[in-house]
Amino acid sequence: MNTFHGIALHASTADFLARPRRLLIDGAWQDAASSQTLPVTDPASGDVFCHVPAGDAPDIERAVQAARRAFEQGDWARMRPIDRERLLLRLADLMEANAQQLAELEAIDNGKPVSMARAVDVALSIDFMRYMAGWATKIEGATMDVSVPLVRDREFFGFTRREPVGVVGAIIPWNFPLLMAAWKLGPALASGCTMILKPAEETPLSALRLAELVQEAGYPNGVLNVITGLGHTAGAALAGHKGIEKVAFTGSTEVGKLVGKAALDNMTRVSLELGGKSPVIVLDDADPTQAAAGAAQAIFFNQGQVCTAGSRLFIHKSRFEQVVEGLAGIANSMQMGPGIHPDTQIGPLVSAAQQQRVMGYIDSGYQQGARAAAGGSTGDGQGYFVRPTVLVDVHDDMRVVREEIFGPVVVALPYEDLDEVARRANDTPYGLAASIWSNDLSRVHRLIPRIKAGTVWINCHNILDNAMPFGGYKQSGIGREMGRAVLDLYTESKSVVMML
Ligand code: NAP
Ligand code: MG
Repeated sequence: MNTFHGIALHASTADFLARPRRLLIDGAWQDAASSQTLPVTDPASGDVFCHVPAGDAPDIERAVQAARRAFEQGDWARMRPIDRERLLLRLADLMEANAQQLAELEAIDNGKPVSMARAVDVALSIDFMRYMAGWATKIEGATMDVSVPLVRDREFFGFTRREPVGVVGAIIPWNFPLLMAAWKLGPALASGCTMILKPAEETPLSALRLAELVQEAGYPNGVLNVITGLGHTAGAALAGHKGIEKVAFTGSTEVGKLVGKAALDNMTRVSLELGGKSPVIVLDDADPTQAAAGAAQAIFFNQGQVCTAGSRLFIHKSRFEQVVEGLAGIANSMQMGPGIHPDTQIGPLVSAAQQQRVMGYIDSGYQQGARAAAGGSTGDGQGYFVRPTVLVDVHDDMRVVREEIFGPVVVALPYEDLDEVARRANDTPYGLAASIWSNDLSRVHRLIPRIKAGTVWINCHNILDNAMPFGGYKQSGIGREMGRAVLDLYTESKSVVMML
Protein backbone atom coordinates (compact mmCIF):
# COMPACT_ATOMS: atom_id res chain seq x y z
CA MET A 1 0.00 0.00 0.00
CA ASN A 2 1.71 3.17 -1.24
CA THR A 3 -1.18 5.62 -1.09
CA PHE A 4 -3.97 6.19 1.39
CA HIS A 5 -7.03 8.23 0.36
CA GLY A 6 -5.02 9.37 -2.64
CA ILE A 7 -2.12 10.65 -0.55
CA ALA A 8 1.33 9.15 -1.10
CA LEU A 9 2.65 7.48 2.05
CA HIS A 10 6.26 7.88 3.12
CA ALA A 11 8.26 4.93 1.77
CA SER A 12 8.97 3.71 5.31
CA THR A 13 5.25 3.72 6.17
CA ALA A 14 4.47 1.67 3.08
CA ASP A 15 7.30 -0.68 4.04
CA PHE A 16 5.92 -1.12 7.57
CA LEU A 17 2.45 -1.91 6.23
CA ALA A 18 3.88 -4.40 3.72
CA ARG A 19 5.62 -6.43 6.42
CA PRO A 20 3.78 -8.88 8.69
CA ARG A 21 3.06 -7.49 12.15
CA ARG A 22 3.91 -9.70 15.08
CA LEU A 23 4.10 -9.62 18.86
CA LEU A 24 7.43 -8.73 20.44
CA ILE A 25 8.29 -11.18 23.22
CA ASP A 26 11.82 -11.52 24.60
CA GLY A 27 13.33 -9.76 21.59
CA ALA A 28 11.67 -12.10 19.08
CA TRP A 29 8.82 -11.26 16.70
CA GLN A 30 6.17 -13.94 16.86
CA ASP A 31 2.54 -14.71 16.08
CA ALA A 32 -0.01 -15.11 18.85
CA ALA A 33 0.05 -18.59 20.41
CA SER A 34 -3.48 -19.04 19.07
CA SER A 35 -2.42 -17.83 15.56
CA GLN A 36 -5.51 -15.59 15.65
CA THR A 37 -5.42 -12.03 14.29
CA LEU A 38 -7.41 -8.82 14.69
CA PRO A 39 -8.37 -6.50 11.83
CA VAL A 40 -7.09 -2.92 11.76
CA THR A 41 -9.68 -0.51 10.34
CA ASP A 42 -9.30 2.81 8.54
CA PRO A 43 -11.69 5.11 10.45
CA ALA A 44 -12.05 7.42 7.42
CA SER A 45 -13.56 4.63 5.28
CA GLY A 46 -14.39 1.69 7.54
CA ASP A 47 -12.14 -0.57 5.42
CA VAL A 48 -9.83 -3.14 6.99
CA PHE A 49 -6.27 -2.44 5.77
CA CYS A 50 -4.12 -4.82 7.80
CA HIS A 51 -4.13 -7.29 10.68
CA VAL A 52 -2.24 -7.70 13.95
CA PRO A 53 -1.91 -10.73 16.22
CA ALA A 54 -4.72 -11.32 18.71
CA GLY A 55 -2.49 -11.89 21.72
CA ASP A 56 -4.07 -13.52 24.77
CA ALA A 57 -3.20 -14.95 28.19
CA PRO A 58 -0.52 -17.44 26.96
CA ASP A 59 1.29 -14.63 25.14
CA ILE A 60 1.03 -12.37 28.20
CA GLU A 61 2.47 -15.23 30.27
CA ARG A 62 5.55 -15.56 28.05
CA ALA A 63 5.99 -11.80 27.95
CA VAL A 64 5.85 -11.51 31.75
CA GLN A 65 8.46 -14.26 32.07
CA ALA A 66 10.72 -12.50 29.57
CA ALA A 67 10.29 -9.15 31.33
CA ARG A 68 11.06 -10.82 34.67
CA ARG A 69 14.29 -12.36 33.34
CA ALA A 70 15.37 -9.06 31.81
CA PHE A 71 14.64 -7.23 35.05
CA GLU A 72 16.57 -9.61 37.25
CA GLN A 73 19.40 -10.94 35.11
CA GLY A 74 21.70 -9.82 32.36
CA ASP A 75 22.70 -6.52 30.88
CA TRP A 76 19.63 -4.50 31.79
CA ALA A 77 19.67 -5.42 35.46
CA ARG A 78 23.34 -4.39 35.69
CA MET A 79 23.15 -1.32 33.46
CA ARG A 80 24.49 1.93 34.90
CA PRO A 81 22.13 4.91 34.99
CA ILE A 82 24.21 6.82 32.45
CA ASP A 83 23.88 3.96 30.00
CA ARG A 84 20.12 3.92 30.51
CA GLU A 85 20.20 7.63 29.70
CA ARG A 86 22.25 7.03 26.56
CA LEU A 87 19.88 4.31 25.34
CA LEU A 88 16.82 6.51 25.89
CA LEU A 89 18.47 9.34 23.96
CA ARG A 90 19.25 6.92 21.14
CA LEU A 91 15.61 5.79 21.10
CA ALA A 92 14.48 9.44 20.95
CA ASP A 93 16.86 10.05 18.01
CA LEU A 94 15.43 7.04 16.18
CA MET A 95 11.89 8.29 16.82
CA GLU A 96 12.90 11.65 15.43
CA ALA A 97 14.44 10.05 12.34
CA ASN A 98 11.13 8.19 11.85
CA ALA A 99 8.85 11.08 12.80
CA GLN A 100 6.94 11.28 9.51
CA GLN A 101 6.34 7.54 9.47
CA LEU A 102 5.11 7.53 13.08
CA ALA A 103 2.79 10.47 12.32
CA GLU A 104 1.38 8.69 9.25
CA LEU A 105 0.78 5.50 11.22
CA GLU A 106 -1.15 7.49 13.85
CA ALA A 107 -3.16 9.27 11.16
CA ILE A 108 -4.22 6.13 9.28
CA ASP A 109 -4.79 4.01 12.40
CA ASN A 110 -6.57 6.52 14.68
CA GLY A 111 -7.90 8.89 11.99
CA LYS A 112 -6.37 12.02 13.49
CA PRO A 113 -4.98 14.79 11.24
CA VAL A 114 -1.44 13.90 10.22
CA SER A 115 -0.29 17.50 10.84
CA MET A 116 -1.45 17.20 14.47
CA ALA A 117 0.04 13.73 14.85
CA ARG A 118 3.41 15.11 13.76
CA ALA A 119 3.29 18.36 15.76
CA VAL A 120 1.71 16.95 18.91
CA ASP A 121 1.77 13.15 19.32
CA VAL A 122 5.16 12.46 17.77
CA ALA A 123 6.91 15.67 18.87
CA LEU A 124 5.74 15.32 22.49
CA SER A 125 6.69 11.64 22.57
CA ILE A 126 10.24 12.40 21.41
CA ASP A 127 10.62 15.32 23.85
CA PHE A 128 9.31 13.18 26.68
CA MET A 129 11.84 10.41 26.00
CA ARG A 130 14.63 13.01 26.14
CA TYR A 131 13.20 14.52 29.32
CA MET A 132 13.03 11.09 30.96
CA ALA A 133 16.55 10.23 29.75
CA GLY A 134 17.80 13.04 31.95
CA TRP A 135 16.10 11.56 34.99
CA ALA A 136 17.93 8.23 34.68
CA THR A 137 20.99 9.72 36.38
CA LYS A 138 19.03 11.81 38.89
CA ILE A 139 17.01 9.26 40.82
CA GLU A 140 17.97 9.99 44.40
CA GLY A 141 17.34 8.93 47.94
CA ALA A 142 17.99 11.03 51.04
CA THR A 143 20.06 10.77 54.21
CA MET A 144 18.35 11.24 57.55
CA ASP A 145 19.61 12.20 60.98
CA VAL A 146 17.83 9.54 62.98
CA SER A 147 17.19 9.76 66.74
CA VAL A 148 16.25 6.18 67.73
CA PRO A 149 15.08 7.01 71.29
CA LEU A 150 15.11 3.35 72.33
CA VAL A 151 18.88 2.81 72.03
CA ARG A 152 20.46 5.98 73.38
CA ASP A 153 24.04 4.81 73.70
CA ARG A 154 24.53 3.94 70.02
CA GLU A 155 24.72 6.02 66.86
CA PHE A 156 22.62 5.34 63.80
CA PHE A 157 22.75 6.32 60.18
CA GLY A 158 19.62 6.33 57.99
CA PHE A 159 19.20 6.73 54.27
CA THR A 160 16.71 5.92 51.55
CA ARG A 161 17.25 4.36 48.14
CA ARG A 162 14.96 4.53 45.12
CA GLU A 163 14.78 1.21 43.32
CA PRO A 164 12.94 0.35 40.10
CA VAL A 165 9.50 -1.03 40.94
CA GLY A 166 10.01 -4.05 38.66
CA VAL A 167 7.98 -5.52 35.82
CA VAL A 168 5.35 -3.07 34.58
CA GLY A 169 2.16 -3.92 32.70
CA ALA A 170 1.01 -0.93 30.63
CA ILE A 171 -2.48 -0.78 29.15
CA ILE A 172 -3.16 2.22 26.92
CA PRO A 173 -6.07 3.75 24.97
CA TRP A 174 -6.56 4.65 21.31
CA ASN A 175 -6.73 8.44 21.48
CA PHE A 176 -2.95 9.14 21.65
CA PRO A 177 -1.47 5.69 20.98
CA LEU A 178 2.21 6.64 20.61
CA LEU A 179 2.18 9.34 23.29
CA MET A 180 0.49 7.12 25.86
CA ALA A 181 3.04 4.38 25.12
CA ALA A 182 5.82 6.96 25.60
CA TRP A 183 4.34 8.21 28.88
CA LYS A 184 4.61 4.68 30.28
CA LEU A 185 7.78 3.50 28.58
CA GLY A 186 9.90 6.63 29.25
CA PRO A 187 9.82 6.47 33.07
CA ALA A 188 10.01 2.66 33.04
CA LEU A 189 13.23 2.74 30.98
CA ALA A 190 14.70 5.67 32.90
CA SER A 191 14.24 3.92 36.23
CA GLY A 192 15.35 0.43 35.15
CA CYS A 193 11.98 -1.34 34.96
CA THR A 194 10.89 -3.74 32.22
CA MET A 195 7.51 -3.62 30.49
CA ILE A 196 4.71 -5.48 28.80
CA LEU A 197 2.69 -3.04 26.68
CA LYS A 198 -0.89 -3.76 25.55
CA PRO A 199 -2.04 -1.12 23.05
CA ALA A 200 -5.73 -0.49 22.34
CA GLU A 201 -7.30 -2.91 19.87
CA GLU A 202 -8.27 0.01 17.59
CA THR A 203 -4.73 1.44 17.33
CA PRO A 204 -1.95 -1.14 17.59
CA LEU A 205 0.39 0.08 14.84
CA SER A 206 2.55 2.79 16.40
CA ALA A 207 3.27 0.62 19.47
CA LEU A 208 4.59 -2.12 17.17
CA ARG A 209 6.74 0.36 15.27
CA LEU A 210 8.01 1.85 18.55
CA ALA A 211 8.97 -1.66 19.63
CA GLU A 212 11.05 -2.04 16.44
CA LEU A 213 12.83 1.19 17.29
CA VAL A 214 13.45 -0.02 20.85
CA GLN A 215 15.11 -3.13 19.37
CA GLU A 216 17.11 -1.00 16.94
CA ALA A 217 18.29 1.27 19.77
CA GLY A 218 19.91 -1.77 21.36
CA TYR A 219 17.77 -2.52 24.40
CA PRO A 220 18.34 -6.02 25.77
CA ASN A 221 15.73 -8.65 24.94
CA GLY A 222 12.67 -8.65 27.19
CA VAL A 223 13.01 -5.05 28.37
CA LEU A 224 9.98 -4.12 26.23
CA ASN A 225 7.42 -6.68 25.11
CA VAL A 226 4.37 -5.68 23.07
CA ILE A 227 1.20 -7.76 23.03
CA THR A 228 -1.55 -6.58 20.71
CA GLY A 229 -4.95 -7.97 21.60
CA LEU A 230 -8.31 -7.33 23.21
CA GLY A 231 -8.87 -5.66 26.54
CA HIS A 232 -11.04 -8.30 28.17
CA THR A 233 -8.59 -11.08 27.20
CA ALA A 234 -4.98 -9.86 26.89
CA GLY A 235 -5.59 -6.71 28.95
CA ALA A 236 -7.32 -8.54 31.77
CA ALA A 237 -4.62 -11.25 31.82
CA LEU A 238 -1.99 -8.53 32.22
CA ALA A 239 -3.82 -6.44 34.85
CA GLY A 240 -4.46 -9.50 37.04
CA HIS A 241 -1.06 -11.16 36.57
CA LYS A 242 0.64 -12.08 39.83
CA GLY A 243 4.10 -11.81 38.28
CA ILE A 244 4.15 -8.06 37.73
CA GLU A 245 4.85 -5.27 40.22
CA LYS A 246 2.96 -2.41 38.61
CA VAL A 247 0.07 -1.69 36.30
CA ALA A 248 -0.02 1.64 34.45
CA PHE A 249 -3.42 2.25 32.86
CA THR A 250 -4.93 5.03 30.77
CA GLY A 251 -8.50 4.74 29.52
CA SER A 252 -12.08 4.89 30.72
CA THR A 253 -13.03 5.21 34.37
CA GLU A 254 -15.18 2.09 34.03
CA VAL A 255 -12.33 -0.16 32.86
CA GLY A 256 -9.87 1.67 35.14
CA LYS A 257 -11.86 0.47 38.16
CA LEU A 258 -11.73 -3.14 36.92
CA VAL A 259 -7.99 -2.88 36.30
CA GLY A 260 -7.41 -1.23 39.68
CA LYS A 261 -9.32 -3.96 41.53
CA ALA A 262 -7.51 -6.74 39.66
CA ALA A 263 -4.17 -5.14 40.54
CA LEU A 264 -5.07 -4.58 44.18
CA ASP A 265 -5.97 -8.26 44.58
CA ASN A 266 -2.26 -8.96 44.09
CA MET A 267 -1.18 -5.73 45.82
CA THR A 268 0.31 -4.72 42.47
CA ARG A 269 1.09 -1.00 42.37
CA VAL A 270 -1.31 0.79 40.08
CA SER A 271 -1.63 4.20 38.47
CA LEU A 272 -4.83 5.17 36.67
CA GLU A 273 -5.34 8.03 34.23
CA LEU A 274 -9.05 8.06 33.48
CA GLY A 275 -11.87 10.10 32.05
CA GLY A 276 -12.91 13.71 32.44
CA LYS A 277 -15.60 16.30 31.88
CA SER A 278 -13.40 19.34 32.11
CA PRO A 279 -14.92 22.83 32.50
CA VAL A 280 -13.84 25.84 30.45
CA ILE A 281 -14.78 28.95 32.47
CA VAL A 282 -15.04 32.27 30.64
CA LEU A 283 -15.15 35.26 33.01
CA ASP A 284 -16.94 38.48 32.11
CA ASP A 285 -13.72 40.38 31.32
CA ALA A 286 -12.52 37.85 28.72
CA ASP A 287 -12.25 38.86 25.07
CA PRO A 288 -15.08 36.87 23.40
CA THR A 289 -13.13 36.24 20.18
CA GLN A 290 -10.14 34.87 22.07
CA ALA A 291 -12.38 32.83 24.36
CA ALA A 292 -14.26 31.32 21.40
CA ALA A 293 -10.99 30.32 19.70
CA GLY A 294 -9.72 28.83 22.98
CA ALA A 295 -12.95 26.95 23.59
CA ALA A 296 -12.82 25.52 20.05
CA GLN A 297 -9.29 24.27 20.55
CA ALA A 298 -10.23 22.87 23.98
CA ILE A 299 -12.99 20.64 22.57
CA PHE A 300 -12.23 19.96 18.90
CA PHE A 301 -8.54 19.04 19.21
CA ASN A 302 -8.18 15.33 18.36
CA GLN A 303 -11.93 15.22 17.50
CA GLY A 304 -12.67 15.75 21.19
CA GLN A 305 -11.19 12.34 21.99
CA VAL A 306 -9.04 13.80 24.73
CA CYS A 307 -9.33 12.98 28.42
CA THR A 308 -8.87 16.70 29.23
CA ALA A 309 -11.28 17.91 26.51
CA GLY A 310 -13.00 21.14 27.54
CA SER A 311 -16.46 19.65 27.17
CA ARG A 312 -18.43 21.95 29.52
CA LEU A 313 -18.20 25.58 28.48
CA PHE A 314 -19.35 27.98 31.22
CA ILE A 315 -19.69 31.50 29.82
CA HIS A 316 -20.62 34.57 31.85
CA LYS A 317 -24.14 35.52 30.72
CA SER A 318 -22.92 38.94 29.52
CA ARG A 319 -20.67 37.21 26.96
CA PHE A 320 -22.75 34.11 26.20
CA GLU A 321 -24.17 34.96 22.76
CA GLN A 322 -20.88 36.37 21.47
CA VAL A 323 -18.76 33.39 22.55
CA VAL A 324 -21.27 30.81 21.29
CA GLU A 325 -21.54 32.59 17.95
CA GLY A 326 -17.75 32.71 17.59
CA LEU A 327 -17.39 29.06 18.57
CA ALA A 328 -20.15 27.91 16.20
CA GLY A 329 -18.47 29.85 13.39
CA ILE A 330 -15.18 28.05 14.00
CA ALA A 331 -16.96 24.67 14.26
CA ASN A 332 -18.68 25.21 10.91
CA SER A 333 -15.47 26.28 9.21
CA MET A 334 -13.32 23.31 10.18
CA GLN A 335 -12.08 21.17 7.29
CA MET A 336 -13.31 17.59 7.83
CA GLY A 337 -11.57 14.71 6.06
CA PRO A 338 -9.30 11.66 6.35
CA GLY A 339 -6.46 12.18 8.80
CA ILE A 340 -3.83 11.51 6.15
CA HIS A 341 -4.91 14.57 4.11
CA PRO A 342 -2.53 17.43 4.96
CA ASP A 343 -5.40 20.00 5.11
CA THR A 344 -7.67 18.03 7.45
CA GLN A 345 -8.55 19.77 10.72
CA ILE A 346 -11.22 17.31 11.90
CA GLY A 347 -10.72 13.62 11.16
CA PRO A 348 -13.12 10.75 11.78
CA LEU A 349 -13.67 9.30 15.25
CA VAL A 350 -11.66 6.18 15.93
CA SER A 351 -14.36 3.55 15.36
CA ALA A 352 -17.97 2.88 14.41
CA ALA A 353 -18.68 2.19 18.09
CA GLN A 354 -17.30 5.57 19.11
CA GLN A 355 -19.30 7.33 16.37
CA GLN A 356 -22.49 5.59 17.56
CA ARG A 357 -21.71 6.45 21.16
CA VAL A 358 -21.19 10.13 20.39
CA MET A 359 -24.28 10.35 18.15
CA GLY A 360 -26.23 8.60 20.91
CA TYR A 361 -25.24 11.40 23.29
CA ILE A 362 -26.18 14.10 20.78
CA ASP A 363 -29.60 12.44 20.30
CA SER A 364 -30.10 12.23 24.06
CA GLY A 365 -29.37 15.96 24.19
CA TYR A 366 -32.02 16.66 21.54
CA GLN A 367 -34.53 14.50 23.42
CA GLN A 368 -33.89 16.45 26.61
CA GLY A 369 -34.40 19.79 24.85
CA ALA A 370 -30.92 20.79 23.65
CA ARG A 371 -30.35 22.54 20.32
CA ALA A 372 -27.26 22.38 18.09
CA ALA A 373 -25.78 25.84 17.40
CA ALA A 374 -23.32 24.01 15.11
CA GLY A 375 -22.90 20.43 13.89
CA GLY A 376 -25.01 17.75 15.52
CA SER A 377 -24.76 15.18 12.74
CA THR A 378 -22.43 12.65 11.15
CA GLY A 379 -20.47 13.29 7.97
CA ASP A 380 -22.23 12.69 4.64
CA GLY A 381 -20.27 9.75 3.29
CA GLN A 382 -18.52 6.72 4.70
CA GLY A 383 -16.15 6.82 7.65
CA TYR A 384 -16.81 7.53 11.30
CA PHE A 385 -17.15 11.33 11.09
CA VAL A 386 -19.09 13.51 13.53
CA ARG A 387 -19.31 17.25 12.81
CA PRO A 388 -17.92 19.63 15.42
CA THR A 389 -20.97 20.22 17.61
CA VAL A 390 -22.01 23.03 19.96
CA LEU A 391 -25.07 22.29 22.09
CA VAL A 392 -27.06 25.12 23.72
CA ASP A 393 -30.33 25.20 25.68
CA VAL A 394 -28.78 22.64 28.01
CA HIS A 395 -29.13 22.32 31.76
CA ASP A 396 -26.87 20.80 34.40
CA ASP A 397 -28.67 17.48 34.84
CA MET A 398 -28.71 16.43 31.16
CA ARG A 399 -26.61 13.39 30.23
CA VAL A 400 -24.64 15.50 27.72
CA VAL A 401 -23.57 17.74 30.60
CA ARG A 402 -22.86 15.00 33.13
CA GLU A 403 -21.22 12.16 31.17
CA GLU A 404 -17.96 11.96 29.24
CA ILE A 405 -18.87 11.97 25.52
CA PHE A 406 -15.31 11.66 24.16
CA GLY A 407 -16.14 13.31 20.86
CA PRO A 408 -16.29 16.79 19.28
CA VAL A 409 -19.30 17.88 21.33
CA VAL A 410 -19.34 20.83 23.74
CA VAL A 411 -22.24 22.02 25.90
CA ALA A 412 -22.44 25.80 26.44
CA LEU A 413 -23.85 26.95 29.78
CA PRO A 414 -24.41 30.55 30.95
CA TYR A 415 -23.67 31.55 34.57
CA GLU A 416 -24.01 34.68 36.68
CA ASP A 417 -21.38 34.78 39.44
CA LEU A 418 -18.10 33.17 40.52
CA ASP A 419 -19.48 31.21 43.48
CA GLU A 420 -22.09 29.70 41.23
CA VAL A 421 -19.65 28.75 38.47
CA ALA A 422 -17.15 27.24 40.94
CA ARG A 423 -19.91 25.07 42.40
CA ARG A 424 -21.24 23.99 39.01
CA ALA A 425 -17.75 23.36 37.56
CA ASN A 426 -17.06 20.98 40.46
CA ASP A 427 -20.45 19.27 40.19
CA THR A 428 -19.04 16.25 38.37
CA PRO A 429 -17.54 12.91 39.40
CA TYR A 430 -14.44 13.83 37.38
CA GLY A 431 -11.55 16.14 38.22
CA LEU A 432 -8.91 15.95 35.49
CA ALA A 433 -8.56 19.53 34.24
CA ALA A 434 -10.15 22.94 33.87
CA SER A 435 -9.39 26.23 32.17
CA ILE A 436 -10.17 29.80 33.20
CA TRP A 437 -10.30 32.61 30.67
CA SER A 438 -9.69 36.04 32.21
CA ASN A 439 -7.01 38.69 32.78
CA ASP A 440 -8.36 39.61 36.20
CA LEU A 441 -5.52 38.19 38.33
CA SER A 442 -7.31 38.45 41.66
CA ARG A 443 -10.40 36.62 40.55
CA VAL A 444 -8.36 33.99 38.70
CA HIS A 445 -6.26 33.33 41.80
CA ARG A 446 -9.35 33.09 43.96
CA LEU A 447 -10.84 30.54 41.59
CA ILE A 448 -7.75 28.28 41.18
CA PRO A 449 -7.86 26.67 44.66
CA ARG A 450 -11.60 26.16 44.42
CA ILE A 451 -11.42 24.01 41.26
CA LYS A 452 -11.09 20.32 42.10
CA ALA A 453 -8.89 19.21 39.20
CA GLY A 454 -5.36 17.93 38.64
CA THR A 455 -4.55 20.66 36.11
CA VAL A 456 -5.89 24.22 35.80
CA TRP A 457 -4.99 26.20 32.69
CA ILE A 458 -5.28 29.99 32.53
CA ASN A 459 -6.05 31.49 29.10
CA CYS A 460 -5.07 28.21 27.43
CA HIS A 461 -6.24 24.59 27.41
CA ASN A 462 -4.66 21.19 26.65
CA ILE A 463 -1.16 22.59 27.16
CA LEU A 464 1.02 19.72 28.39
CA ASP A 465 4.61 19.97 29.46
CA ASN A 466 7.05 17.23 30.42
CA ALA A 467 7.94 19.03 33.64
CA MET A 468 4.32 19.39 34.81
CA PRO A 469 2.73 16.50 36.73
CA PHE A 470 -0.44 15.25 35.04
CA GLY A 471 -3.32 13.29 36.57
CA GLY A 472 -6.73 13.50 38.11
CA TYR A 473 -8.71 14.27 41.22
CA LYS A 474 -11.79 12.19 42.07
CA GLN A 475 -12.85 9.61 39.44
CA SER A 476 -10.29 10.91 36.96
CA GLY A 477 -7.62 8.68 38.41
CA ILE A 478 -4.83 7.92 40.84
CA GLY A 479 -1.23 9.10 40.53
CA ARG A 480 0.64 11.76 38.55
CA GLU A 481 2.46 11.07 35.31
CA MET A 482 5.21 13.30 33.89
CA GLY A 483 7.50 15.63 35.81
CA ARG A 484 9.54 14.45 38.78
CA ALA A 485 6.30 13.00 40.16
CA VAL A 486 6.21 10.13 37.67
CA LEU A 487 9.33 8.59 39.25
CA ASP A 488 7.25 7.83 42.34
CA LEU A 489 5.10 5.56 40.17
CA TYR A 490 8.03 3.58 38.75
CA THR A 491 10.22 3.25 41.84
CA GLU A 492 9.96 1.88 45.36
CA SER A 493 11.52 3.67 48.32
CA LYS A 494 13.73 1.57 50.57
CA SER A 495 14.68 2.84 54.03
CA VAL A 496 18.05 1.70 55.38
CA VAL A 497 19.01 2.11 59.04
CA MET A 498 22.59 1.26 60.14
CA MET A 499 23.80 0.97 63.70
CA LEU A 500 27.34 2.30 63.78
P1 NAP B 1 -11.16 1.39 27.53
O1 NAP B 1 -12.08 0.28 27.26
O2 NAP B 1 -11.01 1.92 28.90
O3 NAP B 1 -9.75 0.95 26.95
C1 NAP B 1 -8.49 1.35 27.44
C2 NAP B 1 -7.55 0.17 27.39
O4 NAP B 1 -7.97 -0.83 28.33
C3 NAP B 1 -7.53 -0.54 26.04
O5 NAP B 1 -6.24 -1.02 25.76
C4 NAP B 1 -8.49 -1.68 26.28
O6 NAP B 1 -8.39 -2.73 25.38
C5 NAP B 1 -8.14 -2.08 27.68
N1 NAP B 1 -9.17 -2.86 28.36
C6 NAP B 1 -10.50 -2.93 28.10
N2 NAP B 1 -11.11 -3.77 28.95
C7 NAP B 1 -10.16 -4.25 29.78
C8 NAP B 1 -10.16 -5.14 30.88
N3 NAP B 1 -11.29 -5.74 31.29
N4 NAP B 1 -8.99 -5.40 31.51
C9 NAP B 1 -7.86 -4.81 31.12
N5 NAP B 1 -7.79 -3.96 30.07
C10 NAP B 1 -8.93 -3.67 29.41
O7 NAP B 1 -11.52 2.58 26.62
P2 NAP B 1 -12.07 2.48 25.15
O8 NAP B 1 -12.86 1.25 24.89
O9 NAP B 1 -10.91 2.70 24.31
O10 NAP B 1 -13.02 3.74 25.13
C11 NAP B 1 -14.23 3.76 25.87
C12 NAP B 1 -14.42 5.10 26.51
O11 NAP B 1 -13.35 5.36 27.43
C13 NAP B 1 -14.34 6.28 25.58
O12 NAP B 1 -15.52 6.52 24.93
C14 NAP B 1 -13.94 7.37 26.50
O13 NAP B 1 -15.04 7.90 27.16
C15 NAP B 1 -13.07 6.72 27.49
N6 NAP B 1 -11.64 6.91 27.21
C16 NAP B 1 -10.93 7.72 28.00
C17 NAP B 1 -9.59 7.91 27.74
C18 NAP B 1 -8.75 8.81 28.55
O14 NAP B 1 -7.63 9.13 28.16
N7 NAP B 1 -9.20 9.22 29.69
C19 NAP B 1 -8.97 7.27 26.68
C20 NAP B 1 -9.73 6.40 25.90
C21 NAP B 1 -11.06 6.24 26.19
P3 NAP B 1 -9.36 -2.71 24.09
O15 NAP B 1 -8.78 -1.70 23.20
O16 NAP B 1 -9.29 -4.06 23.53
O17 NAP B 1 -10.74 -2.35 24.58
MG1 MG C 1 -12.58 -0.89 24.92
